[in-house]
Amino acid sequence: MLFPTSKINIQKLSDSLFDQKEVTVSVLRLDKLHEIVSGNKLFKLHYFLAQAQEQCSEGVTTFGGPYSNHLVATAFASKEIGLKSIGIIRGEQPKVLSHTLQACLAYGMELKFITRHEYDQKEKAEFLAPINGSYPKFLIIPEGGYGPLGANGAAMIMDWIPENITHICCAIGTATTFTGLLKNLKKEQQLIGFPVLKNMDDIEKRIQFLSTLPLNHPPFQIINNYHFGGYAKKNNDLIEAMNLLYEKYRLPTDFVYTAKMMVGVIDCISNDFFKKGSNILCIHTGGLQGNLSLEPGTLKF
Ligand SMILES: *Cc1c(COP(=O)(O)O)cnc(C)c1O
Repeated sequence: MLFPTSKINIQKLSDSLFDQKEVTVSVLRLDKLHEIVSGNKLFKLHYFLAQAQEQCSEGVTTFGGPYSNHLVATAFASKEIGLKSIGIIRGEQPKVLSHTLQACLAYGMELKFITRHEYDQKEKAEFLAPINGSYPKFLIIPEGGYGPLGANGAAMIMDWIPENITHICCAIGTATTFTGLLKNLKKEQQLIGFPVLKNMDDIEKRIQFLSTLPLNHPPFQIINNYHFGGYAKKNNDLIEAMNLLYEKYRLPTDFVYTAKMMVGVIDCISNDFFKKGSNILCIHTGGLQGNLSLEPGTLKF
């Protein structure tokens, strides 16, 4: 890895529910990587940045919304290794920048705002050509690190997962992290994904795009009903669950990804989804900086 990883650890959660169901639950704390830039994003960026270094790029260009964990991770990581960064941001420039975009600026990222309509065209060659023309020495990193290199980086997360884990659970956004984990899954291990977007039914297609895994890749399960209304949507139940996770286990979660996954995992345990003896590991993919967009006082941590 391009970044120090010594702060990553595994936290075991104690709960009478888990004892009663005879399962163990622990959390891989990737959020401990860094206060602002935490979680899976630095893993996903690893090979993109390595490529930028190899090609002697001057910097990298990437895309995201005003609360994007990927943008801030790219800004930070680029600066750390001496590359410039440009962030192409969805939507008009607001009067007051989000905490996320302020952090991007603090890490030296140049921000360019484009309309939502333009943003929807960003994957197209006609859109990318002028960007490439203006910044020929900048490597373009797809939004969210969604590409085979991103999945290869995420595959390294498996190095932190003990062999005796039977079930690995993670939140799904672009499915890049999920695919990376799937690539390095041990025999006998089960991977379970919790999409944070509504009606996400193209995971198989995404795995094919992100990897060369054969169609009979190791089996996985997708649990689709914990999106709480869709991407970045939240309700009181979710916020209460986040406060409870913190009170019970001292586990801070973010409302976009990790809280939804944790609620899903605990519900699954209650509903006997996991058989007795299961050794469950939840991946804390970070993203805590996103909670700064919540009204102050919403969370007890
Ligand atoms: C981006 C992100 C995810 C989703 O990762 P994908 O690889 O896009 O599926 C999960 N958790 C957090 C905290 C994230 O920032």
